[in-house]
Amino acid sequence: MERIAYFDNNATTRVAPEVVDAMMPFLREAYGNPSSMHAFGGGVAKKIAAAREEVARFINADPSEIIFTSCATESDNTAIRGSAEFLGKGTKVITTAVEHPAVLQPCRRLKADGFDEVELPVDGVGQIDPGRLREELKNSSGRAVVSAMWANNETGTVFPVEEIAAICREAGAVFHVDAVQAAGKAPIDVRKVPVDLLSLSGHKFHAPKGIGILYARRGVKFRPFMLGGHQEESRRAGTENVPYIVGLAKACELARLGMEEESARIRAMRDRLEAGILAACPDVRVNGDRSRRLSNTLNVSFEYIEGESIAYHLSDLGICVSTGSACASGSLDPSHVIRAMGVPFTAVHGSVRFSLSRYNSEDDVDYVLEKLPPVIARLRDLSPFGPGKGGVTTYE
Ligand code: PLP
Repeated sequence: MERIAYFDNNATTRVAPEVVDAMMPFLREAYGNPSSMHAFGGGVAKKIAAAREEVARFINADPSEIIFTSCATESDNTAIRGSAEFLGKGTKVITTAVEHPAVLQPCRRLKADGFDEVELPVDGVGQIDPGRLREELKNSSGRAVVSAMWANNETGTVFPVEEIAAICREAGAVFHVDAVQAAGKAPIDVRKVPVDLLSLSGHKFHAPKGIGILYARRGVKFRPFMLGGHQEESRRAGTENVPYIVGLAKACELARLGMEEESARIRAMRDRLEAGILAACPDVRVNGDRSRRLSNTLNVSFEYIEGESIAYHLSDLGICVSTGSACASGSLDPSHVIRAMGVPFTAVHGSVRFSLSRYNSEDDVDYVLEKLPPVIARLRDLSPFGPGKGGVTTYE
Protein backbone atom coordinates (compact mmCIF):
# COMPACT_ATOMS: atom_id res chain seq x y z
CA MET A 1 0.00 0.00 0.00
CA GLU A 2 1.46 3.32 -1.05
CA ARG A 3 0.02 5.75 1.40
CA ILE A 4 -1.95 5.75 4.62
CA ALA A 5 -4.31 8.59 5.38
CA TYR A 6 -5.16 7.80 9.00
CA PHE A 7 -8.56 9.15 10.07
CA ASP A 8 -9.22 6.70 12.91
CA ASN A 9 -7.69 8.56 15.83
CA ASN A 10 -10.68 7.99 18.13
CA ALA A 11 -9.85 4.27 17.86
CA THR A 12 -6.18 4.77 18.61
CA THR A 13 -3.39 7.24 17.89
CA ARG A 14 0.18 7.07 16.72
CA VAL A 15 2.62 7.07 19.64
CA ALA A 16 4.45 10.41 19.66
CA PRO A 17 8.20 10.07 18.97
CA GLU A 18 8.88 12.16 22.10
CA VAL A 19 6.90 9.56 24.10
CA VAL A 20 8.94 6.69 22.66
CA ASP A 21 12.17 8.55 23.55
CA ALA A 22 10.98 9.15 27.11
CA MET A 23 10.12 5.45 27.54
CA MET A 24 13.28 3.90 26.14
CA PRO A 25 15.56 4.23 29.22
CA PHE A 26 12.94 2.37 31.26
CA LEU A 27 12.87 -0.51 28.77
CA ARG A 28 16.65 -0.69 28.55
CA GLU A 29 18.58 0.39 31.64
CA ALA A 30 16.26 1.58 34.40
CA TYR A 31 14.43 -1.70 34.94
CA GLY A 32 14.38 -1.71 38.77
CA ASN A 33 11.18 -2.42 40.66
CA PRO A 34 9.94 0.85 42.17
CA SER A 35 8.99 -1.03 45.36
CA SER A 36 12.50 -2.42 45.93
CA MET A 37 14.59 -1.34 48.91
CA HIS A 38 17.69 -0.54 46.86
CA ALA A 39 18.52 2.80 45.31
CA PHE A 40 18.30 1.33 41.78
CA GLY A 41 14.58 0.66 42.31
CA GLY A 42 14.17 3.86 44.34
CA GLY A 43 15.35 5.90 41.35
CA VAL A 44 12.54 4.41 39.29
CA ALA A 45 10.03 5.20 42.06
CA LYS A 46 11.11 8.85 41.83
CA LYS A 47 10.39 8.83 38.09
CA ILE A 48 6.91 7.48 38.76
CA ALA A 49 6.35 10.26 41.29
CA ALA A 50 7.43 12.84 38.69
CA ALA A 51 5.13 11.23 36.10
CA ARG A 52 2.23 11.35 38.56
CA GLU A 53 2.83 15.07 39.06
CA GLU A 54 2.80 15.69 35.30
CA VAL A 55 -0.43 13.72 34.84
CA ALA A 56 -2.01 15.58 37.77
CA ARG A 57 -1.00 18.92 36.20
CA PHE A 58 -2.72 17.88 32.96
CA ILE A 59 -6.15 17.73 34.66
CA ASN A 60 -5.44 20.12 37.57
CA ALA A 61 -5.59 17.36 40.18
CA ASP A 62 -3.42 16.56 43.17
CA PRO A 63 -0.83 13.84 42.42
CA SER A 64 -2.30 11.71 45.24
CA GLU A 65 -5.56 11.60 43.28
CA ILE A 66 -3.98 9.88 40.25
CA ILE A 67 -4.12 6.08 39.97
CA PHE A 68 -2.34 4.33 37.10
CA THR A 69 -4.32 1.48 35.53
CA SER A 70 -3.92 -0.78 32.50
CA CYS A 71 -6.50 0.99 30.31
CA ALA A 72 -9.64 3.09 30.47
CA THR A 73 -11.80 -0.03 30.46
CA GLU A 74 -10.21 -0.93 33.79
CA SER A 75 -10.65 2.65 35.05
CA ASP A 76 -14.33 2.68 34.05
CA ASN A 77 -15.03 -0.72 35.62
CA THR A 78 -13.21 0.21 38.82
CA ALA A 79 -14.98 3.55 39.12
CA ILE A 80 -18.49 2.29 38.45
CA ARG A 81 -18.48 -1.12 40.09
CA GLY A 82 -16.12 -0.02 42.83
CA SER A 83 -18.19 2.95 43.96
CA ALA A 84 -21.58 1.22 43.59
CA GLU A 85 -20.37 -1.83 45.51
CA PHE A 86 -18.84 0.40 48.19
CA LEU A 87 -22.19 2.16 48.65
CA GLY A 88 -24.01 -1.18 48.55
CA LYS A 89 -27.33 -2.54 47.32
CA GLY A 90 -30.04 0.08 47.01
CA THR A 91 -27.62 2.42 45.23
CA LYS A 92 -29.03 3.80 41.99
CA VAL A 93 -26.73 3.61 38.97
CA ILE A 94 -27.45 6.21 36.30
CA THR A 95 -25.71 6.37 32.95
CA THR A 96 -26.58 7.38 29.38
CA ALA A 97 -27.66 5.35 26.36
CA VAL A 98 -24.62 6.44 24.33
CA GLU A 99 -21.76 5.44 26.63
CA HIS A 100 -18.87 3.26 25.52
CA PRO A 101 -19.36 -0.45 26.33
CA ALA A 102 -16.65 -0.09 29.00
CA VAL A 103 -19.27 1.93 30.92
CA LEU A 104 -22.51 0.35 29.72
CA GLN A 105 -21.47 -3.23 30.43
CA PRO A 106 -20.46 -2.73 34.07
CA CYS A 107 -23.64 -0.70 34.64
CA ARG A 108 -25.72 -3.52 33.15
CA ARG A 109 -23.84 -6.09 35.22
CA LEU A 110 -24.76 -4.09 38.32
CA LYS A 111 -28.39 -4.23 37.18
CA ALA A 112 -28.10 -8.02 36.85
CA ASP A 113 -26.63 -8.03 40.37
CA GLY A 114 -29.74 -6.31 41.73
CA PHE A 115 -28.86 -2.62 41.52
CA ASP A 116 -31.40 -0.15 40.16
CA GLU A 117 -29.90 0.96 36.81
CA VAL A 118 -31.14 3.69 34.47
CA GLU A 119 -29.86 4.72 31.02
CA LEU A 120 -30.81 8.28 30.13
CA PRO A 121 -31.98 8.80 26.52
CA VAL A 122 -30.42 11.33 24.14
CA ASP A 123 -31.94 13.65 21.56
CA GLY A 124 -31.32 13.75 17.80
CA VAL A 125 -27.82 15.23 18.18
CA GLY A 126 -26.84 12.92 21.01
CA GLN A 127 -27.38 15.32 23.91
CA ILE A 128 -28.92 14.39 27.24
CA ASP A 129 -31.48 16.47 29.09
CA PRO A 130 -29.94 17.37 32.48
CA GLY A 131 -33.50 17.78 33.80
CA ARG A 132 -34.03 14.03 33.35
CA LEU A 133 -30.95 13.36 35.47
CA ARG A 134 -32.26 15.68 38.18
CA GLU A 135 -35.56 13.76 38.17
CA GLU A 136 -33.84 10.37 38.41
CA LEU A 137 -31.71 11.59 41.30
CA LYS A 138 -34.81 12.82 43.16
CA ASN A 139 -36.00 9.21 43.20
CA SER A 140 -32.71 7.78 44.38
CA SER A 141 -33.01 7.70 48.16
CA GLY A 142 -29.76 9.67 48.44
CA ARG A 143 -27.39 6.96 47.20
CA ALA A 144 -26.45 7.14 43.53
CA VAL A 145 -23.56 6.69 41.13
CA VAL A 146 -23.76 8.65 37.87
CA SER A 147 -21.51 7.85 34.91
CA ALA A 148 -21.60 10.11 31.86
CA MET A 149 -18.96 10.66 29.22
CA TRP A 150 -17.21 13.97 28.59
CA ALA A 151 -17.40 13.49 24.82
CA ASN A 152 -18.77 10.74 22.63
CA ASN A 153 -16.30 8.52 20.81
CA GLU A 154 -18.53 8.05 17.74
CA THR A 155 -20.02 11.50 17.17
CA GLY A 156 -17.78 13.81 19.21
CA THR A 157 -20.83 15.28 20.96
CA VAL A 158 -19.68 16.96 24.18
CA PHE A 159 -21.94 16.56 27.20
CA PRO A 160 -22.61 19.51 29.58
CA VAL A 161 -20.34 17.91 32.22
CA GLU A 162 -20.17 21.05 34.35
CA GLU A 163 -23.95 21.10 34.71
CA ILE A 164 -24.09 17.33 35.32
CA ALA A 165 -21.41 17.68 38.01
CA ALA A 166 -23.40 20.44 39.73
CA ILE A 167 -26.58 18.34 39.69
CA CYS A 168 -24.71 15.36 41.16
CA ARG A 169 -23.13 17.53 43.86
CA GLU A 170 -26.50 18.93 44.86
CA ALA A 171 -27.95 15.41 45.11
CA GLY A 172 -24.91 13.95 46.90
CA ALA A 173 -24.34 11.46 44.05
CA VAL A 174 -20.93 10.10 43.05
CA PHE A 175 -20.10 11.39 39.56
CA HIS A 176 -17.81 9.41 37.26
CA VAL A 177 -16.76 10.79 33.88
CA ASP A 178 -15.32 8.79 31.02
CA ALA A 179 -13.11 11.54 29.59
CA VAL A 180 -11.22 9.23 27.23
CA GLN A 181 -12.11 11.11 24.06
CA ALA A 182 -11.72 14.58 25.55
CA ALA A 183 -8.08 14.16 26.57
CA GLY A 184 -5.81 16.30 24.45
CA LYS A 185 -8.79 17.76 22.57
CA ALA A 186 -10.54 19.82 25.25
CA PRO A 187 -9.20 21.22 28.53
CA ILE A 188 -9.98 18.96 31.50
CA ASP A 189 -9.91 20.69 34.87
CA VAL A 190 -11.25 18.63 37.77
CA ARG A 191 -11.37 21.70 40.03
CA LYS A 192 -13.53 23.63 37.56
CA VAL A 193 -15.70 20.61 36.76
CA PRO A 194 -15.95 18.91 40.15
CA VAL A 195 -16.13 15.25 39.16
CA ASP A 196 -15.43 12.51 41.70
CA LEU A 197 -13.92 9.91 39.39
CA LEU A 198 -12.53 10.29 35.87
CA SER A 199 -11.08 7.82 33.35
CA LEU A 200 -8.42 8.45 30.71
CA SER A 201 -6.63 6.20 28.24
CA GLY A 202 -3.06 6.78 27.04
CA HIS A 203 -3.47 5.39 23.54
CA LYS A 204 -6.12 7.97 22.63
CA PHE A 205 -3.62 10.82 22.92
CA HIS A 206 -0.31 9.52 21.61
CA ALA A 207 0.88 7.29 24.47
CA PRO A 208 0.98 3.50 23.96
CA LYS A 209 -1.92 1.08 24.36
CA GLY A 210 -2.12 -0.55 27.77
CA ILE A 211 -1.94 2.41 30.14
CA GLY A 212 -4.84 4.25 31.73
CA ILE A 213 -5.59 6.71 34.49
CA LEU A 214 -8.25 6.76 37.13
CA TYR A 215 -8.59 10.10 38.86
CA ALA A 216 -10.26 9.72 42.27
CA ARG A 217 -11.02 12.90 44.16
CA ARG A 218 -9.55 12.83 47.66
CA GLY A 219 -12.10 11.33 50.04
CA VAL A 220 -14.08 9.50 47.35
CA LYS A 221 -14.43 5.86 48.34
CA PHE A 222 -14.55 2.82 46.07
CA ARG A 223 -13.84 -0.88 46.37
CA PRO A 224 -10.54 -1.58 44.58
CA PHE A 225 -10.84 -3.99 41.71
CA MET A 226 -7.24 -5.31 41.65
CA LEU A 227 -6.12 -6.75 44.97
CA GLY A 228 -2.73 -8.15 45.89
CA GLY A 229 -0.26 -5.36 46.57
CA HIS A 230 0.23 -1.97 48.17
CA GLN A 231 0.88 -0.14 44.87
CA GLU A 232 -1.12 3.01 44.10
CA GLU A 233 -1.88 3.29 47.84
CA SER A 234 -3.64 -0.09 47.68
CA ARG A 235 -6.19 1.32 45.24
CA ARG A 236 -4.76 -0.70 42.31
CA ALA A 237 -2.46 -3.58 43.07
CA GLY A 238 0.20 -4.77 40.63
CA THR A 239 3.78 -3.80 39.80
CA GLU A 240 3.73 -0.47 38.03
CA ASN A 241 4.09 -0.42 34.22
CA VAL A 242 6.99 2.00 34.50
CA PRO A 243 7.86 2.68 30.82
CA TYR A 244 4.22 3.26 29.96
CA ILE A 245 3.64 5.49 32.97
CA VAL A 246 6.62 7.62 31.94
CA GLY A 247 5.38 7.66 28.33
CA LEU A 248 1.88 8.63 29.41
CA ALA A 249 3.26 11.54 31.43
CA LYS A 250 5.15 12.74 28.34
CA ALA A 251 1.95 12.51 26.29
CA CYS A 252 0.15 14.58 28.95
CA GLU A 253 2.89 17.21 28.83
CA LEU A 254 2.74 17.40 25.02
CA ALA A 255 -1.06 17.68 25.10
CA ARG A 256 -0.99 20.33 27.84
CA LEU A 257 1.52 22.51 26.01
CA GLY A 258 0.23 22.07 22.47
CA MET A 259 -3.51 21.54 22.76
CA GLU A 260 -4.81 25.03 22.07
CA GLU A 261 -2.90 25.52 18.85
CA GLU A 262 -3.33 21.92 17.75
CA SER A 263 -7.08 21.89 18.33
CA ALA A 264 -7.53 24.99 16.18
CA ARG A 265 -5.52 23.43 13.33
CA ILE A 266 -7.34 20.09 13.61
CA ARG A 267 -10.75 21.78 13.79
CA ALA A 268 -10.01 23.73 10.60
CA MET A 269 -9.05 20.50 8.79
CA ARG A 270 -12.11 18.68 10.13
CA ASP A 271 -14.39 21.54 9.05
CA ARG A 272 -12.85 21.58 5.57
CA LEU A 273 -13.35 17.82 5.31
CA GLU A 274 -16.97 18.17 6.42
CA ALA A 275 -17.72 21.01 4.02
CA GLY A 276 -16.02 19.17 1.16
CA ILE A 277 -17.99 15.97 1.74
CA LEU A 278 -21.30 17.82 2.03
CA ALA A 279 -20.57 19.73 -1.17
CA ALA A 280 -19.48 16.67 -3.17
CA CYS A 281 -21.98 14.02 -2.02
CA PRO A 282 -25.78 14.30 -2.00
CA ASP A 283 -27.92 12.69 0.73
CA VAL A 284 -25.36 13.03 3.51
CA ARG A 285 -26.15 13.98 7.08
CA VAL A 286 -23.77 14.94 9.88
CA ASN A 287 -24.40 12.98 13.08
CA GLY A 288 -23.79 14.68 16.42
CA ASP A 289 -24.05 18.10 18.00
CA ARG A 290 -22.30 20.49 15.66
CA SER A 291 -22.49 23.28 18.23
CA ARG A 292 -20.84 21.18 20.99
CA ARG A 293 -18.48 18.75 19.33
CA LEU A 294 -14.88 17.62 19.68
CA SER A 295 -12.57 19.47 17.32
CA ASN A 296 -11.31 16.28 15.66
CA THR A 297 -14.44 14.21 15.03
CA LEU A 298 -16.75 14.03 12.03
CA ASN A 299 -19.48 11.39 11.84
CA VAL A 300 -21.44 11.37 8.59
CA SER A 301 -24.19 9.12 7.32
CA PHE A 302 -24.29 8.40 3.61
CA GLU A 303 -27.90 7.49 3.01
CA TYR A 304 -28.89 4.26 1.21
CA ILE A 305 -25.45 2.61 1.42
CA GLU A 306 -23.52 0.65 4.05
CA GLY A 307 -20.79 2.20 6.18
CA GLU A 308 -18.87 -1.08 6.02
CA SER A 309 -18.72 -1.01 2.20
CA ILE A 310 -17.48 2.57 2.30
CA ALA A 311 -14.83 1.72 4.90
CA TYR A 312 -13.60 -1.31 2.89
CA HIS A 313 -13.33 0.69 -0.32
CA LEU A 314 -11.50 3.50 1.47
CA SER A 315 -9.22 0.97 3.13
CA ASP A 316 -8.13 -0.24 -0.32
CA LEU A 317 -7.09 3.34 -1.02
CA GLY A 318 -5.13 3.59 2.23
CA ILE A 319 -7.77 5.69 4.00
CA CYS A 320 -8.52 4.48 7.55
CA VAL A 321 -11.94 5.29 9.01
CA SER A 322 -14.44 3.61 11.33
CA THR A 323 -18.06 2.76 10.76
CA GLY A 324 -20.84 3.33 13.21
CA SER A 325 -21.78 -0.32 13.25
CA ALA A 326 -20.60 -2.93 15.66
CA CYS A 327 -19.30 -5.19 12.88
CA ALA A 328 -15.90 -5.40 14.55
CA SER A 329 -17.52 -7.33 17.37
CA GLY A 330 -19.06 -9.83 14.98
CA SER A 331 -22.42 -8.17 14.53
CA LEU A 332 -23.75 -6.02 11.71
CA ASP A 333 -26.15 -4.26 14.06
CA PRO A 334 -26.01 -0.51 13.69
CA SER A 335 -24.25 1.43 16.43
CA HIS A 336 -26.17 1.85 19.70
CA VAL A 337 -25.11 5.51 19.67
CA ILE A 338 -26.54 6.29 16.24
CA ARG A 339 -29.70 4.32 17.04
CA ALA A 340 -30.17 6.09 20.39
CA MET A 341 -30.10 9.39 18.47
CA GLY A 342 -33.03 8.27 16.35
CA VAL A 343 -31.15 8.67 13.06
CA PRO A 344 -33.54 7.74 10.19
CA PHE A 345 -33.21 4.13 9.08
CA THR A 346 -32.07 5.12 5.58
CA ALA A 347 -28.97 6.65 7.20
CA VAL A 348 -28.37 4.53 10.27
CA HIS A 349 -26.29 1.85 8.51
CA GLY A 350 -24.33 4.33 6.41
CA SER A 351 -22.48 6.13 9.16
CA VAL A 352 -18.73 6.66 8.88
CA ARG A 353 -16.46 8.31 11.43
CA PHE A 354 -13.45 10.40 10.49
CA SER A 355 -11.28 11.28 13.49
CA LEU A 356 -8.15 13.41 13.16
CA SER A 357 -5.04 14.05 15.22
CA ARG A 358 -1.97 16.29 15.24
CA TYR A 359 -0.40 13.99 12.66
CA ASN A 360 -3.00 14.63 9.96
CA SER A 361 -2.15 17.06 7.18
CA GLU A 362 -4.08 19.18 4.70
CA ASP A 363 -2.80 16.72 2.14
CA ASP A 364 -4.68 13.90 3.89
CA VAL A 365 -7.89 15.93 3.69
CA ASP A 366 -7.32 16.61 -0.03
CA TYR A 367 -6.75 12.91 -0.60
CA VAL A 368 -10.07 11.94 1.06
CA LEU A 369 -11.94 14.66 -0.80
CA GLU A 370 -10.51 13.33 -4.07
CA LYS A 371 -11.11 9.61 -3.41
CA LEU A 372 -14.34 9.49 -1.39
CA PRO A 373 -16.97 11.00 -3.76
CA PRO A 374 -16.39 8.43 -6.56
CA VAL A 375 -16.61 5.60 -3.99
CA ILE A 376 -19.95 6.93 -2.74
CA ALA A 377 -21.26 7.40 -6.29
CA ARG A 378 -20.28 3.83 -7.25
CA LEU A 379 -21.88 2.28 -4.15
CA ARG A 380 -25.04 4.32 -4.70
CA ASP A 381 -25.25 3.04 -8.28
CA LEU A 382 -25.05 -0.52 -6.99
CA SER A 383 -27.49 0.02 -4.09
CA PRO A 384 -31.07 -1.21 -4.51
CA PHE A 385 -32.13 1.63 -2.23
CA GLY A 386 -32.39 5.36 -2.73
CA PRO A 387 -34.65 7.95 -4.30
CA GLY A 388 -36.62 6.40 -7.14
CA LYS A 389 -35.34 2.87 -6.49
CA GLY A 390 -38.22 1.71 -4.35
CA GLY A 391 -36.26 -0.50 -1.96
CA VAL A 392 -36.19 1.88 0.94
CA THR A 393 -39.17 0.61 2.88
CA THR A 394 -37.64 -2.83 3.34
CA TYR A 395 -34.20 -1.58 4.15
CA GLU A 396 -34.29 -2.21 7.87
N1 PLP B 1 -14.22 4.94 26.78
C1 PLP B 1 -14.28 5.50 25.57
C2 PLP B 1 -15.17 6.69 25.36
C3 PLP B 1 -13.52 5.00 24.52
O1 PLP B 1 -13.58 5.57 23.31
C4 PLP B 1 -12.69 3.87 24.77
C5 PLP B 1 -11.93 3.25 23.66
O2 PLP B 1 -12.38 3.19 22.52
C6 PLP B 1 -12.66 3.31 26.05
C7 PLP B 1 -13.44 3.88 27.04
C8 PLP B 1 -11.80 2.14 26.39
O3 PLP B 1 -10.45 2.53 26.43
P1 PLP B 1 -9.26 1.45 26.53
O4 PLP B 1 -8.99 1.02 25.13
O5 PLP B 1 -8.11 2.19 27.13
O6 PLP B 1 -9.72 0.35 27.40
